[in-house]
Amino acid sequence: MFTIKKYVVVDSLEEAYKLNKSKKANVLGGLLWMKMGKKTIQTAIDLSNLNLDKIEENDECFEIGAMVRLRDLEVHEGLNNYFNNAIKDCVKSIVGVQFRNCATVGGSIFSRFGFSDPLTCLLALDSYVKLYKGGIIPMKEFVNMPYDSDILEKIIIKKDNRKISYMSHRNISTDFPVLTCAVSKIDDKFEVAVGARPQKAALVLDEENILSDEPTKEEIEKFADYVESKLEFGSNMRASKEFRSHLCKVLVRRCINEIGGM
Ligand SMILES: Cc1cc2nc3c(=O)[nH]c(=O)nc-3n(C[C@H](O)[C@H](O)[C@H](O)COP(=O)(O)OP(=O)(O)OC[C@H]3O[C@@H](n4cnc5c(N)ncnc54)[C@H](O)[C@@H]3O)c2cc1C
Repeated sequence: MFTIKKYVVVDSLEEAYKLNKSKKANVLGGLLWMKMGKKTIQTAIDLSNLNLDKIEENDECFEIGAMVRLRDLEVHEGLNNYFNNAIKDCVKSIVGVQFRNCATVGGSIFSRFGFSDPLTCLLALDSYVKLYKGGIIPMKEFVNMPYDSDILEKIIIKKDNRKISYMSHRNISTDFPVLTCAVSKIDDKFEVAVGARPQKAALVLDEENILSDEPTKEEIEKFADYVESKLEFGSNMRASKEFRSHLCKVLVRRCINEIGGM
């Protein structure tokens, strides 16, 4: 349980940013992660008055506000039609519907958890975070940036006609993932993000052009080995590093097959 001394529902991002400069302040998402801790929060910053709970679509992109809930992503027709249900697939195993009705996109992505399903999926898309002070930053950069006191305002996903498939492996449904994997294909180029290694998601590109436009079984096998060789895997209570590296090849192969291997 945590203790909040002062609770502020802010009227602007500027107000939130100024308050959050103090080390004893915390922005609130859905509080699901924070409630597991025991700290005393001097100033809790509630963003719920800032209209950040919308998913907006235009010709070029989807814009997803920080206070959008994971469940909103799961049931959003536009997002799921455009991205082959990968958005739904990357949140559907996170605890349960009631939980996903509370957990926010802002809390999930700003935290950059190693086990994050949505972070893995977003990394394989042309996606960006919009930070109040830091501006628009590609997810590929944001994932490795140090934590600071900026405020995540929204996520932007470009509509670039890529195909994507998302898969994870869990020891039991709704547990934290043992490994997460997203493969996307734009034109004839494949990109792979693998997370929960148990380190946070990392991206591997087909720099050696192993895969053709319609990859054969042999090409897929070779590429899966290549991806595995480019990443580090570790052990924790859920799985050994040997199991994770094996799983990586399996999930990469399955994802490629889903989006168009032969
Ligand atoms: C029991 C449990 C199981 C889980 N299982 C999974 C899983 O299997 N897969 C998975 O991907 N995730 C999982 N999660 C993580 C979960 O999906 C959310 O990512 C997590 O709860 C954070 O979201 P939240 O809205 O609750 O954020 P909070 O707990 O409210 O906040 C988390 C952190 O983010 C900061 N923050 C929140 N919003 C912003 C913002 N807009 N700008 C800047 N900082 C911000 C907060 O200050 C805090 O430090 C699990 C969490 C729990 C508690």
